[in-house]
Amino acid sequence: MAATDSTLPASKDPKDFVIATIGSHSALQILKGAKDEGFKTLAICKKGTERVYDERGYNVADEIISVDSFSDWNEELEQELIKRNAIIIPHGSFIAYMGHDRVQAMKSMYYGTKEILEWESDRTMERQWMEKSGLQLPRVFKDPEEIDKPVIVKFHGAGGGFGYFVAKSPEQFWEVKNKKHPDNNDYAIQEYIVGVPVYAHFFQSPITGEIEIMSFDKRYESNADSIGRIKAEDQLAANIHTSYTIVGNIPIVVRESLLPKFFEMGESVVKVSKDITKNGKGLFGPFCLECIVTRKLEIFCFEISARIVAGTNPFVEGSPYTALKYDVPMSTGRRVALDIKQAIAGDRLADILG
Ligand code: ATP
Repeated sequence: MAATDSTLPASKDPKDFVIATIGSHSALQILKGAKDEGFKTLAICKKGTERVYDERGYNVADEIISVDSFSDWNEELEQELIKRNAIIIPHGSFIAYMGHDRVQAMKSMYYGTKEILEWESDRTMERQWMEKSGLQLPRVFKDPEEIDKPVIVKFHGAGGGFGYFVAKSPEQFWEVKNKKHPDNNDYAIQEYIVGVPVYAHFFQSPITGEIEIMSFDKRYESNADSIGRIKAEDQLAANIHTSYTIVGNIPIVVRESLLPKFFEMGESVVKVSKDITKNGKGLFGPFCLECIVTRKLEIFCFEISARIVAGTNPFVEGSPYTALKYDVPMSTGRRVALDIKQAIAGDRLADILG
């Protein structure tokens, strides 16, 4: 944690704090949720995108700081944030734009455990974390020559599944790899799990100690979700390669009998995260387990996202699950703000900052 306890603001009034994030990804629900919980809000926007967040758009930001590029994140900007008692909420684009090293070095108050980002971003470490948590995982192929069944090939840092492809033999792998990605050798090869994708959104609060299932989504991907719209022979004729570029998110409600298993998986991932982080704080706040559910109802997990995911965006007004637990519309963004509000009220701010 950058700030020590004595350096943290003593106020117990949410109005003395500003919830801040980069204007992108899930900023709308984060800022809306913060306002609903009585905080002031700030969006750091790339020039030209401000109107989404100010009164010309959805009016969720009390204040906007415009930057030419997120690489302009500098000491001066940090000082502006510190001056305002800003608490930064990381989201997917935030981490992607800032990079883990800069996040680690940030001096402003930051919601979440920075240390866990390393575990999530390093494929080997993430796999160890998932294995220790007892999750069912797709097989990993270290060498393309081992491919003996359908696999999915994932390029590192490929935002939103861009460039991923499916192959079922070493020959097919090399054909696509050499043609489409000749210079990129940073990839992982995973068994392709036949089933439906289910992204489970959790919230672990250090304040209540509880884990909550907030919602589920599936992704709307181009062109994986369009291939079935034409006949198989036309697919072959058009020589379409399956790709997974994410375009949007679709809410889902899972069959109720799957809920105990999802709770168990989320709990286990949180428990192990406390063992693997040096400060023992582990993973808290919003996170997502990205899964495929097979026809035998086995749940394979292929990724942990240790922060709010864009799949929670359809639930600005809450989900069927949060409606069962809360009597106000509870988005994941608002749940973050509530956690911060309760931490402030209970003099436990240090517990939720990384
Ligand atoms: P994120 O933004 O979460 O990092 P990403 O770009 O890493 O996403 P993934 O979530 O890894 O992309 O996956 C993209 C697509 O590939 C999704 O539709 C997912 O369902 C599918 N997928 C990923 N791994 C497997 C697998 N082992 N078997 C079948 N489908 C998979």
